Amino acid sequence: MSAPFVQVALNLPAGDAFDYAVPPGLRARVVPGIRVRVPFRNRHLTGYCVRLLDAPTIDAKLVKPIADVVDEEPLLDPEMLELCHWVAGYYGCSWGEVLEAALPAGVRHQVVSRTIQVVEPAFEPTELQAVVADLPARQRKRGAVLEALVFSHGDELTPRQLAEMAGCSLATVHATRKAGLVRYREKVVTEHPVDDVQPEETEPVRLTDDQEIALRMLARKRADGFGVVLLHGVTGSGKTEVYLRAMADVVAEGKQAIVLVPEISLTPQTIRRFKGRFARVAVLHSHLTPGQRYEQWRTIRRGEADVVIGPRSAIFAPVERLGLIVVDEEHENTFKQENVPRYHARDVAVVRARQAGCLVILGSATPSLESYNNARRGRYAYLQLPRRVLGLPLPPMEIVDMTAEHSETRRLSLISRRLEILMRTALDNDAQVMLFLNRRGFSTLVYCPRCQHALRCPRCEIPMVYHRRRNIALCHYCGERQPPSGICPSCGGAKMRHFGAGTERIEDEVARKFPAYPIQRMDSDTTRGRTAHQRLLSRFRSGEARILIGTQMIAKGLDFPQVTLVGVVSADTSLYLPDFRAAERTFQLVEQVAGRAGRGLRGGRVVVQTTNPHHYSILAAASHDYKGFAETELDFRRELGYPPYGHLLRVVVTAASRDEGRARCQKLASTVLALPEASSMEVLGPAECPLATLKGKSRWHLLLKASDRAAIRAAAQALRPIAGAKGKARIALDVDPVSML
Ligand code: ADP
Ligand code: ZN
Repeated sequence: MSAPFVQVALNLPAGDAFDYAVPPGLRARVVPGIRVRVPFRNRHLTGYCVRLLDAPTIDAKLVKPIADVVDEEPLLDPEMLELCHWVAGYYGCSWGEVLEAALPAGVRHQVVSRTIQVVEPAFEPTELQAVVADLPARQRKRGAVLEALVFSHGDELTPRQLAEMAGCSLATVHATRKAGLVRYREKVVTEHPVDDVQPEETEPVRLTDDQEIALRMLARKRADGFGVVLLHGVTGSGKTEVYLRAMADVVAEGKQAIVLVPEISLTPQTIRRFKGRFARVAVLHSHLTPGQRYEQWRTIRRGEADVVIGPRSAIFAPVERLGLIVVDEEHENTFKQENVPRYHARDVAVVRARQAGCLVILGSATPSLESYNNARRGRYAYLQLPRRVLGLPLPPMEIVDMTAEHSETRRLSLISRRLEILMRTALDNDAQVMLFLNRRGFSTLVYCPRCQHALRCPRCEIPMVYHRRRNIALCHYCGERQPPSGICPSCGGAKMRHFGAGTERIEDEVARKFPAYPIQRMDSDTTRGRTAHQRLLSRFRSGEARILIGTQMIAKGLDFPQVTLVGVVSADTSLYLPDFRAAERTFQLVEQVAGRAGRGLRGGRVVVQTTNPHHYSILAAASHDYKGFAETELDFRRELGYPPYGHLLRVVVTAASRDEGRARCQKLASTVLALPEASSMEVLGPAECPLATLKGKSRWHLLLKASDRAAIRAAAQALRPIAGAKGKARIALDVDPVSML
């Protein structure tokens, strides 16, 4: 294989692949999938050789020679190049942008060992808290740096990681060092495999009849080559066991499997379970250092992993003998990447499986309506596990109407009388309780009753959340922080009031009501630092903590048999989001949280508190009626042409001012309306995004709706040059958007 010309994909928004000449001396080394250095405009860039050419596709006089070849061997095989090409075409970005995302950072830089700087306090750790408290107000950013250092619990953090944790700039960390508050220390890290997770030896279970049937079906489907199976199993029905067995069959045939899980459920517990069954497991996740990722990637590349487990990016793992892809919790939003390339890993999984001629299993207790509808229409096979294992029943759920509760008790208590009684019963019986609220912090609105002034982020204009333990008001979108003062910044009034509850406030109320029982709170405030997550969970697992309070972090996947009561403190947080999926999210959340109850022989129950006791998503969740919910919701979607009946392209404009944002968005709308596809599309907007201002920037969007996927694809392609062009406003194209904010 040697060619005089090649096409090179660059990690730039514009173009797809650029022609270059290959000097004779480099021809033997230039093959598809290898990286090359090329002159581009007035600089040199590294790109991916994607095609060999006998003759250039443009005027030969314009073709420059490549400067150098970077790798000894290609990093991507032809199938992977092709898959990435499909992703680029479908999601409206460039081939090079996708290739860049398909390789973990450590692979691109081929890190093996390196020296890093880690930050340590310049005084005794025990003095840290006191030092933070003594800092003058104008140094609060530095205080945040020190505070983050306290929260890191001895994890060694680089200045950049620390800045990220503290929500400040790298410059602030440097300034903190200049001020003599912290030191940097050099540390050499050599990269070695991630073998710190010990396998879990499990007794082989006897499959339930439902599991047996599912496996027989899967074996039959697998023999047919490509196919998609939606495995709809209620929480605790043994879906994971089904994946494990199906994967074992695949591995026994000498093939490999990829398992995609939401990042949040990629816990040591999950990894242990897979390692217990398979000798050669590769794990890819975001907590790995670049070097560790490179190490895992090379292991996979050499064909030395039978099973690859990871979050969405693992769909690009360099597996050659692909025999099965499993997407666990397929309904999860985290499978969608929210920056370029904005791919949905579940959908890419289906494309990759088609390419490899293998089966995909999409598993969930609450399938996305997209997948459910595909199953309904016969495009996907549909397999059910309608019962929990060991004959355990699904927990009964009761709804508490919080409006009635408040008017009857005349108190704004967060825990209803009913929930309190059930908590007491559970705790008195030595069981454990989980309380869920999808909002962290203490109060979600700090407000002056005298002048109506509410504390808002100066950059995002949305209310700041007060965090009492850290004693700051925090913007949950941009990380802006302010020292809270009891004084209204607008009128000087001295009585700021707090509305809306977060997990901290629940913790307070529960501690007051149940002083005898240790509480564990889990949200992104308490789990900063690399090991915190595990530490807090094992404190609950061991029974040392009796009540677990948390955000979505505790909603999914966890299996604590001693939990007999789960309380959803408010089911309303997701219900009124300006998003056509609000009802679906609410149903999923309530059903998933409920799934944490009654996983042991002691049984369990669920209390759902809401001010919307008659909403169909809540009623359906309360009776574990997925089908009922799905059919009602699908009717709404059909009426409005939303997915799965229509396809969407969301175009988001981020500009310096409202006027500019509106003008740019208006212009884009005109461009869209002039497209040949416009006749088969509905164009909504321009409108301000629900989050109209973020980090001081004005945000506007257009929503393109079409019943035909091809129209959306064509529109994305047509808009790409505009979106990629350098300009003052940033334009993002989001095909099949998940976030509507
Ligand atoms: P899901 O993924 O559907 O929530 P899991 O596969 O995690 O369910 O199974 C829930 C629990 O039941 C796990 O502890 C698992 O080991 C156990 N389990 C799974 N299948 C069986 C079975 N056939 N018999 C007994 N226990 C089982
Ligand atoms: Zn903000």
